Amino acid sequence: MLNLTGKNALVTGIANNRSIAWGIAQQLHKAGANLGITYLPDERGKMEKKVAELVEPLNPSLFLPCNVQDEDQIKSTFETIREQWGKLDILIHCLAFASKEDLTGDFSQTSRSGFNTALEISTYSLVQLSGAAKPLMTEGGSIVTLTYLGGVRAIPNYNVMGVAKAGLEMSVRYLASELGPQNIRVNAISAGPIRTLASSAVGGILDMIHHVEEVAPLRRTVTQLEVGNAAAFLCSDLSSGITGQILYVDAGYEIMGM
Ligand code: NAD
Repeated sequence: MLNLTGKNALVTGIANNRSIAWGIAQQLHKAGANLGITYLPDERGKMEKKVAELVEPLNPSLFLPCNVQDEDQIKSTFETIREQWGKLDILIHCLAFASKEDLTGDFSQTSRSGFNTALEISTYSLVQLSGAAKPLMTEGGSIVTLTYLGGVRAIPNYNVMGVAKAGLEMSVRYLASELGPQNIRVNAISAGPIRTLASSAVGGILDMIHHVEEVAPLRRTVTQLEVGNAAAFLCSDLSSGITGQILYVDAGYEIMGM
Protein backbone atom coordinates (compact mmCIF):
# COMPACT_ATOMS: atom_id res chain seq x y z
CA MET A 1 0.00 0.00 0.00
CA LEU A 2 1.16 3.51 -0.71
CA ASN A 3 1.99 4.91 2.70
CA LEU A 4 4.13 7.97 3.42
CA THR A 5 3.34 8.19 7.13
CA GLY A 6 6.39 9.34 9.08
CA LYS A 7 8.04 10.81 5.96
CA ASN A 8 9.12 14.46 5.87
CA ALA A 9 8.56 15.97 2.42
CA LEU A 10 9.75 19.35 1.16
CA VAL A 11 7.63 20.60 -1.76
CA THR A 12 8.85 23.52 -3.89
CA GLY A 13 7.02 25.27 -6.71
CA ILE A 14 3.48 25.98 -5.52
CA ALA A 15 2.31 29.31 -6.97
CA ASN A 16 -1.45 28.72 -7.17
CA ASN A 17 -4.12 26.03 -7.41
CA ARG A 18 -3.09 25.18 -10.97
CA SER A 19 0.53 24.41 -10.04
CA ILE A 20 1.68 20.85 -10.61
CA ALA A 21 3.37 21.10 -7.20
CA TRP A 22 -0.07 21.72 -5.66
CA GLY A 23 -1.30 18.43 -7.19
CA ILE A 24 1.77 16.68 -5.79
CA ALA A 25 1.45 18.23 -2.31
CA GLN A 26 -2.19 17.10 -2.07
CA GLN A 27 -1.33 13.49 -2.96
CA LEU A 28 1.68 13.36 -0.60
CA HIS A 29 -0.55 14.69 2.18
CA LYS A 30 -3.23 12.09 1.36
CA ALA A 31 -0.57 9.37 1.65
CA GLY A 32 0.30 10.63 5.15
CA ALA A 33 3.48 12.67 4.57
CA ASN A 34 4.43 15.57 6.85
CA LEU A 35 4.81 18.56 4.53
CA GLY A 36 7.16 21.52 4.30
CA ILE A 37 6.22 24.04 1.62
CA THR A 38 8.43 26.69 0.06
CA TYR A 39 7.26 29.65 -2.00
CA LEU A 40 8.96 32.27 -4.17
CA PRO A 41 8.83 35.48 -2.10
CA ASP A 42 8.00 38.85 -3.67
CA GLU A 43 8.49 42.34 -2.28
CA ARG A 44 4.86 42.91 -1.32
CA GLY A 45 4.35 39.48 0.29
CA LYS A 46 1.47 38.65 -2.07
CA MET A 47 2.78 35.20 -2.98
CA GLU A 48 3.36 34.29 0.67
CA LYS A 49 -0.26 35.15 1.55
CA LYS A 50 -1.74 33.40 -1.49
CA VAL A 51 0.24 30.17 -1.07
CA ALA A 52 -0.26 30.13 2.73
CA GLU A 53 -4.05 30.27 2.28
CA LEU A 54 -3.99 27.56 -0.39
CA VAL A 55 -1.86 25.06 1.55
CA GLU A 56 -3.47 25.58 4.96
CA PRO A 57 -5.75 22.50 4.66
CA LEU A 58 -2.65 20.33 4.24
CA ASN A 59 -1.28 21.50 7.63
CA PRO A 60 2.34 21.99 6.56
CA SER A 61 4.68 21.95 9.55
CA LEU A 62 7.13 24.22 7.69
CA PHE A 63 6.30 27.15 5.39
CA LEU A 64 9.39 28.95 4.11
CA PRO A 65 10.50 31.49 1.48
CA CYS A 66 12.98 29.97 -0.98
CA ASN A 67 14.10 31.77 -4.11
CA VAL A 68 16.59 29.35 -5.69
CA GLN A 69 18.63 32.32 -6.95
CA ASP A 70 19.27 33.30 -3.33
CA GLU A 71 21.95 31.16 -1.63
CA ASP A 72 21.02 32.47 1.83
CA GLN A 73 17.38 31.43 1.47
CA ILE A 74 18.40 27.93 0.39
CA LYS A 75 20.80 27.66 3.31
CA SER A 76 18.21 28.85 5.77
CA THR A 77 15.53 26.48 4.36
CA PHE A 78 17.69 23.40 4.93
CA GLU A 79 18.98 24.70 8.27
CA THR A 80 15.36 25.00 9.45
CA ILE A 81 14.64 21.46 8.23
CA ARG A 82 17.66 20.19 10.18
CA GLU A 83 16.60 22.00 13.35
CA GLN A 84 12.88 21.20 13.21
CA TRP A 85 12.66 17.84 11.46
CA GLY A 86 16.12 16.34 12.01
CA LYS A 87 15.87 14.39 8.73
CA LEU A 88 14.42 14.81 5.26
CA ASP A 89 12.89 11.94 3.26
CA ILE A 90 11.40 13.54 0.16
CA LEU A 91 12.34 16.52 -2.00
CA ILE A 92 9.98 17.69 -4.74
CA HIS A 93 11.68 20.01 -7.23
CA CYS A 94 8.83 21.47 -9.26
CA LEU A 95 10.01 24.86 -10.51
CA ALA A 96 11.30 26.46 -13.67
CA PHE A 97 11.59 29.86 -15.28
CA ALA A 98 12.47 31.41 -18.65
CA SER A 99 11.47 34.86 -19.80
CA LYS A 100 8.51 35.01 -22.14
CA GLU A 101 10.50 36.40 -25.06
CA ASP A 102 12.72 33.31 -24.96
CA LEU A 103 9.70 30.99 -25.20
CA THR A 104 8.61 32.06 -28.64
CA GLY A 105 10.17 32.61 -32.06
CA ASP A 106 13.72 31.78 -33.08
CA PHE A 107 15.84 29.76 -30.65
CA SER A 108 19.00 31.22 -32.24
CA GLN A 109 17.98 34.64 -30.90
CA THR A 110 18.07 33.56 -27.24
CA SER A 111 20.06 36.14 -25.26
CA ARG A 112 23.04 35.16 -23.10
CA SER A 113 21.28 36.39 -19.97
CA GLY A 114 18.02 34.65 -20.90
CA PHE A 115 19.90 31.39 -21.48
CA ASN A 116 21.80 31.66 -18.20
CA THR A 117 18.73 32.56 -16.15
CA ALA A 118 16.66 29.69 -17.57
CA LEU A 119 19.37 27.14 -16.83
CA GLU A 120 20.21 28.59 -13.42
CA ILE A 121 16.64 28.50 -12.15
CA SER A 122 15.32 25.46 -14.00
CA THR A 123 18.34 23.13 -14.02
CA TYR A 124 21.09 24.15 -11.60
CA SER A 125 18.53 24.49 -8.79
CA LEU A 126 17.97 20.71 -8.82
CA VAL A 127 21.70 20.13 -8.32
CA GLN A 128 21.84 22.76 -5.61
CA LEU A 129 18.77 21.60 -3.66
CA SER A 130 19.83 17.94 -3.94
CA GLY A 131 23.27 18.83 -2.59
CA ALA A 132 21.66 20.60 0.36
CA ALA A 133 19.22 17.70 0.94
CA LYS A 134 21.88 14.97 0.80
CA PRO A 135 23.24 15.32 4.37
CA LEU A 136 19.68 15.45 5.75
CA MET A 137 18.51 12.28 3.98
CA THR A 138 20.12 10.12 6.64
CA GLU A 139 17.61 7.26 6.22
CA GLY A 140 17.66 7.31 2.41
CA GLY A 141 15.24 9.40 0.40
CA SER A 142 13.49 10.23 -2.82
CA ILE A 143 14.02 13.28 -5.01
CA VAL A 144 11.53 13.98 -7.79
CA THR A 145 11.74 16.70 -10.43
CA LEU A 146 9.48 17.73 -13.31
CA THR A 147 10.49 17.68 -16.95
CA TYR A 148 8.85 17.86 -20.38
CA LEU A 149 9.20 16.15 -23.75
CA GLY A 150 10.73 19.37 -25.14
CA GLY A 151 13.94 18.27 -23.38
CA VAL A 152 14.36 15.34 -25.80
CA ARG A 153 12.56 16.55 -28.95
CA ALA A 154 12.39 19.95 -30.61
CA ILE A 155 8.96 21.37 -29.76
CA PRO A 156 7.94 24.71 -31.29
CA ASN A 157 8.60 27.69 -28.96
CA TYR A 158 9.86 25.59 -26.03
CA ASN A 159 13.35 26.67 -27.10
CA VAL A 160 15.72 27.46 -24.20
CA MET A 161 13.51 25.56 -21.76
CA GLY A 162 14.11 22.44 -23.86
CA VAL A 163 17.84 22.88 -23.33
CA ALA A 164 17.22 23.40 -19.61
CA LYS A 165 15.12 20.23 -19.42
CA ALA A 166 17.77 18.20 -21.29
CA GLY A 167 20.28 19.36 -18.67
CA LEU A 168 17.78 18.57 -15.91
CA GLU A 169 17.25 15.01 -17.17
CA MET A 170 20.99 14.40 -17.34
CA SER A 171 21.36 15.89 -13.86
CA VAL A 172 18.83 13.30 -12.66
CA ARG A 173 21.11 10.52 -13.92
CA TYR A 174 24.30 11.98 -12.39
CA LEU A 175 22.55 12.64 -9.08
CA ALA A 176 21.02 9.14 -9.05
CA SER A 177 24.45 7.67 -9.65
CA GLU A 178 26.06 9.72 -6.85
CA LEU A 179 23.30 9.38 -4.26
CA GLY A 180 22.28 5.75 -4.87
CA PRO A 181 24.81 4.25 -2.41
CA GLN A 182 23.10 6.39 0.30
CA ASN A 183 19.74 4.87 -0.79
CA ILE A 184 18.60 8.23 -2.13
CA ARG A 185 16.65 7.78 -5.36
CA VAL A 186 16.36 10.53 -7.98
CA ASN A 187 13.73 10.45 -10.72
CA ALA A 188 11.89 12.82 -13.04
CA ILE A 189 8.29 12.90 -14.18
CA SER A 190 7.85 14.06 -17.75
CA ALA A 191 4.35 15.54 -17.64
CA GLY A 192 2.18 16.23 -20.65
CA PRO A 193 1.18 19.87 -21.19
CA ILE A 194 -1.07 21.30 -18.47
CA ARG A 195 -2.40 24.88 -18.23
CA THR A 196 -0.42 26.59 -15.46
CA LEU A 197 1.18 29.98 -14.84
CA ALA A 198 4.55 28.75 -16.17
CA SER A 199 3.14 26.98 -19.24
CA SER A 200 1.08 30.05 -20.23
CA ALA A 201 4.39 31.77 -21.06
CA VAL A 202 5.15 29.17 -23.77
CA GLY A 203 3.98 30.39 -27.19
CA GLY A 204 1.08 28.32 -28.58
CA ILE A 205 0.52 26.27 -25.41
CA LEU A 206 -3.23 25.91 -26.10
CA ASP A 207 -2.52 24.48 -29.56
CA MET A 208 -0.10 22.01 -27.95
CA ILE A 209 -2.78 20.91 -25.50
CA HIS A 210 -5.37 20.46 -28.26
CA HIS A 211 -2.89 18.47 -30.33
CA VAL A 212 -2.27 16.11 -27.40
CA GLU A 213 -6.03 15.68 -26.92
CA GLU A 214 -6.34 14.59 -30.54
CA VAL A 215 -3.26 12.37 -30.79
CA ALA A 216 -2.37 10.88 -27.37
CA PRO A 217 -3.48 7.26 -26.92
CA LEU A 218 -5.79 8.29 -24.06
CA ARG A 219 -7.16 11.20 -26.20
CA ARG A 220 -6.75 13.72 -23.40
CA THR A 221 -4.16 15.58 -21.38
CA VAL A 222 -3.28 14.76 -17.78
CA THR A 223 -4.21 16.51 -14.55
CA GLN A 224 -2.05 17.87 -11.75
CA LEU A 225 -3.45 15.16 -9.46
CA GLU A 226 -2.41 12.39 -11.88
CA VAL A 227 1.12 13.78 -11.81
CA GLY A 228 0.76 13.94 -8.01
CA ASN A 229 -0.13 10.24 -7.89
CA ALA A 230 2.95 9.32 -9.90
CA ALA A 231 5.09 11.50 -7.63
CA ALA A 232 3.64 9.82 -4.52
CA PHE A 233 4.52 6.44 -6.06
CA LEU A 234 8.09 7.58 -6.79
CA CYS A 235 8.41 8.84 -3.20
CA SER A 236 7.11 5.60 -1.66
CA ASP A 237 8.64 2.19 -1.03
CA LEU A 238 6.52 0.86 -3.92
CA SER A 239 9.18 2.28 -6.25
CA SER A 240 12.17 1.20 -4.13
CA GLY A 241 13.99 -0.35 -7.12
CA ILE A 242 13.59 2.68 -9.42
CA THR A 243 16.17 5.47 -9.76
CA GLY A 244 17.62 7.69 -12.48
CA GLN A 245 14.45 7.33 -14.59
CA ILE A 246 12.21 9.65 -16.57
CA LEU A 247 8.60 8.55 -16.05
CA TYR A 248 6.18 9.85 -18.70
CA VAL A 249 2.82 10.93 -17.29
CA ASP A 250 1.43 12.27 -20.55
CA ALA A 251 -1.57 10.12 -21.53
CA GLY A 252 0.87 8.17 -23.73
CA TYR A 253 1.72 11.02 -26.13
CA GLU A 254 5.48 10.28 -26.06
CA ILE A 255 5.15 6.90 -27.85
CA MET A 256 3.43 8.33 -30.92
CA GLY A 257 5.30 8.90 -34.18
CA MET A 258 2.54 10.86 -35.92
P1 NAD B 1 3.81 26.99 -12.04
O1 NAD B 1 3.96 28.35 -12.59
O2 NAD B 1 2.62 26.69 -11.23
O3 NAD B 1 5.10 26.58 -11.21
C1 NAD B 1 6.38 27.09 -11.47
C2 NAD B 1 6.95 27.43 -10.11
O4 NAD B 1 8.31 27.85 -10.24
C3 NAD B 1 6.20 28.57 -9.41
O5 NAD B 1 5.73 28.14 -8.16
C4 NAD B 1 7.26 29.65 -9.25
O6 NAD B 1 7.10 30.38 -8.06
C5 NAD B 1 8.52 28.78 -9.20
N1 NAD B 1 9.75 29.55 -9.43
C6 NAD B 1 10.08 30.30 -10.53
N2 NAD B 1 11.28 30.91 -10.31
C7 NAD B 1 11.69 30.52 -9.06
C8 NAD B 1 12.82 30.82 -8.25
N3 NAD B 1 13.78 31.65 -8.67
N4 NAD B 1 12.92 30.25 -7.03
C9 NAD B 1 11.96 29.42 -6.57
N5 NAD B 1 10.84 29.11 -7.28
C10 NAD B 1 10.73 29.66 -8.50
O7 NAD B 1 3.91 26.01 -13.31
P2 NAD B 1 4.01 24.41 -13.44
O8 NAD B 1 3.61 24.14 -14.83
O9 NAD B 1 3.31 23.75 -12.32
O10 NAD B 1 5.58 24.15 -13.35
C11 NAD B 1 6.17 23.26 -12.42
C12 NAD B 1 7.22 22.40 -13.10
O11 NAD B 1 6.57 21.51 -14.01
C13 NAD B 1 8.24 23.16 -13.94
O12 NAD B 1 9.51 22.55 -13.81
C14 NAD B 1 7.72 22.95 -15.36
O13 NAD B 1 8.74 23.11 -16.34
C15 NAD B 1 7.26 21.53 -15.24
N6 NAD B 1 6.38 21.06 -16.30
C16 NAD B 1 5.24 21.74 -16.60
C17 NAD B 1 4.39 21.28 -17.62
C18 NAD B 1 3.13 22.04 -17.97
O14 NAD B 1 2.62 21.83 -19.07
N7 NAD B 1 2.60 22.87 -17.12
C19 NAD B 1 4.72 20.12 -18.32
C20 NAD B 1 5.88 19.43 -17.98
C21 NAD B 1 6.70 19.92 -16.97
